[in-house]
Amino acid sequence: MAQHRFSSPLIGDRPAPVKFKPKLVCHSWAELETQTNNCRACGLHEDRIQVVAGRYSHKQAELLIIGEGPGQVEDKEGLAFVGDSGKLLDIMLDSVGLESWYITNVVRCRPPENRTLDSPFNAGSPRNGLSRNPTKTECQSCWGFLQSEIALVKPKAILCLGKVAARTILNTPTKFEKLLRIQHQYFEYPVWATYHPAYLLRQPQLSEHSPKWQVWQTLCQIKLYLEGCRL
Ligand code: SF4
Repeated sequence: MAQHRFSSPLIGDRPAPVKFKPKLVCHSWAELETQTNNCRACGLHEDRIQVVAGRYSHKQAELLIIGEGPGQVEDKEGLAFVGDSGKLLDIMLDSVGLESWYITNVVRCRPPENRTLDSPFNAGSPRNGLSRNPTKTECQSCWGFLQSEIALVKPKAILCLGKVAARTILNTPTKFEKLLRIQHQYFEYPVWATYHPAYLLRQPQLSEHSPKWQVWQTLCQIKLYLEGCRL
């Protein structure tokens, strides 16, 4: 698959959004399924059990949630966020009443080994044995599919889980912690970034300003936005 240059989003201040006009590699859900299932554009195809599809409450959802890459359970099941991280995410979405969502990843095949350090900005860690973060090249290889998915879902808002997803969508080297808690813009889509639920699984505390508390705050902000509240 041809690589696509990352589009230039608008971060922080919000001038009038530019309309999202992706160079689509897939024009329908059927095309997306066929092309991804046959894709060998990056080295991740070598170790995958299968390509991992997006999971959703609604196919054309109000909120598009983007993680970094599938883990072991997802690789086995073929669906995004069906492991422990996904279960936690489902509970958190339910708890704020976010009912219309579509969850996918920046890459659709599992990055096999675990090379990441235990950091709030990465999902993988030597302790959880899930998967390493995808490389920039792998993210770029899968970018056309993610763009197609954005166009097909037509969300009203986007939530990036973890550093890789945030930096891929926002196309910025900005430190992850500086991207948290504020609304960004990717073309006409408002974007938020927050911690990956795999990180939250290792952070049980619920106190004010804890990672879980911060994710909760972000989900509430998105809920308010989707209900028409503009802060
Ligand atoms: S991660 Fe994406 S680009 Fe790489 S092989 Fe899988 S579907 Fe293709």
